[in-house]
Amino acid sequence: MGYLRRNIERLEAYTPGEQPPPGSRVVKLNTNENCYPPSPKVLRSLKSFRGESLRRYPDPMSRALCERAAKLYGVPANWVLAGNGSDEHLALIVRAYLEPGRKAACPVPTYSLYRTLARMQDAGLVEIPYDDNYGLPVEKLIRAAAVVTFICSPNNPSATVAPVKDLERLASRVKGILVVDEAYTDFADENAMSLVKKFRNVMVLRTVSKGYSLAGLRLGFAVAHPEVLEGLIKIKDSYNVDAVTSRVGIAALSDQAWKDRNARRIIKSRTKLSKNLERLGFRVWPSQANFLLARPADKKAGRLYRALKDRGILVRYWDRPGLSDKVRITVGTEEENGTLLDALKKLIR
Ligand code: PMP
Repeated sequence: MGYLRRNIERLEAYTPGEQPPPGSRVVKLNTNENCYPPSPKVLRSLKSFRGESLRRYPDPMSRALCERAAKLYGVPANWVLAGNGSDEHLALIVRAYLEPGRKAACPVPTYSLYRTLARMQDAGLVEIPYDDNYGLPVEKLIRAAAVVTFICSPNNPSATVAPVKDLERLASRVKGILVVDEAYTDFADENAMSLVKKFRNVMVLRTVSKGYSLAGLRLGFAVAHPEVLEGLIKIKDSYNVDAVTSRVGIAALSDQAWKDRNARRIIKSRTKLSKNLERLGFRVWPSQANFLLARPADKKAGRLYRALKDRGILVRYWDRPGLSDKVRITVGTEEENGTLLDALKKLIR
């Protein structure tokens, strides 16, 4: 024992939200999964899968899948790299770009995996606090002079979106690579995909986990100039996307109507839930995602989180600077949101 790298010994592991065992009777509004099921086309594709095609290794570059994704994003196919969820792309990015003596930067609070991954590389990390409205601290990020700048937009956990004009200014001034993590973009009004073609240092990350209701599948896409993707391709696992995921992913991307319809329903519920929370005294930040960041009037968010959990309702809570007075609530079905609001009414009274 004692042979771990010193920074791994010190590392605080990333803690995913609770995943209660299947069949548990909970209202699960804690990990931003889509509250509606995946497209029937996805299920048909799964059912018609032939065992024979599992005998061989899959295409290392998942070309058919990347071609489908590229059409959707309006880029050539070699500008897309498929991966085992966006989390894999994030891990590849830090492995390719970060080492001791180099640094990453990101505004905080944000997706805490960026921090965990930077620490794994024993690299520096400049964390720039967002203001109370979660406006992008563009100048401070430029001054951080990082090799990798992570922007999550819509941002997890604030649900706010970084305006494309701010991202454009950032892209043109940062020296290193600008990663725009758009995991929640299917619920947003604007996205930064157009910047990929304008700037060689921009990489946009997409996933099927949220908009397409496929968090269990593990599939994401990195979109960037082929020269940038080349570095990630060098270090990825040979077969990072399995044969089942590759095929089912094509079916998912081919049913835009299903994804868009569910996104519209979620956006409608989001507006309603947000108003109802405000009626109960919460401050709710304007959301462009499938979740809401909400601060109860008494700011006792930890207590609220535990009281909801006791009633079988899971939301997300972090006892961390900037977040300890807030909860993050995934927008659920109308029924789930109703159950949450009923519980909150009782608790707040
Ligand atoms: N980025 C953000 C901002 C996320 O919230 C998540 C999900 N926790 C991910 C990436 C991971 O996405 P995937 O499921 O594609 O790995």
